[in-house]
Amino acid sequence: MKPEGIEGLKTLSLSLQITADMIKVLEVEDNPLNMELVIELLTMHGFTVHSAIDGEEAIKKIEKEVYDLILMDIELPGIDGVEVTKIIKAKYKNIPVIALTSYAMKGDKERFINAGFDDYVSKPLVVSDFLKKIEKYTKVNWKNVQLPENEFMTVTVS
Ligand code: MN
Repeated sequence: MKPEGIEGLKTLSLSLQITADMIKVLEVEDNPLNMELVIELLTMHGFTVHSAIDGEEAIKKIEKEVYDLILMDIELPGIDGVEVTKIIKAKYKNIPVIALTSYAMKGDKERFINAGFDDYVSKPLVVSDFLKKIEKYTKVNWKNVQLPENEFMTVTVS
């Protein structure tokens, strides 16, 4: 006997597709220029982006809203991005957190992963790599989106 129900489910799963407009991102960054660039890039691709200028504001926002992804600067006034991420992950371990950092040195990846970061991207951001990471952690399908090649964002290191 043919399992019609299961066939039906197969068809349904094929038609499911996560698009950027379903995704809410929290960008934690104290540098207004960096903040603006990331917000512009993500909203241009359809994401909803909220912002926090330090760890304290980030934690407040996460307690009020459900985010699908957090982008975390490391050097922040007050609690730094590593400590903020430890606090967030202790309570909300399923929200992916990506470090946006100039600390792309040997050993740092381990330090970030130990703190609970899911991944990191180095500044200055390479737009295509950055968007690929966003795709990986949000499951957004870029199939119909033209990604820029070798385009850098001028992001300062603070
Ligand atoms: Mn900073």
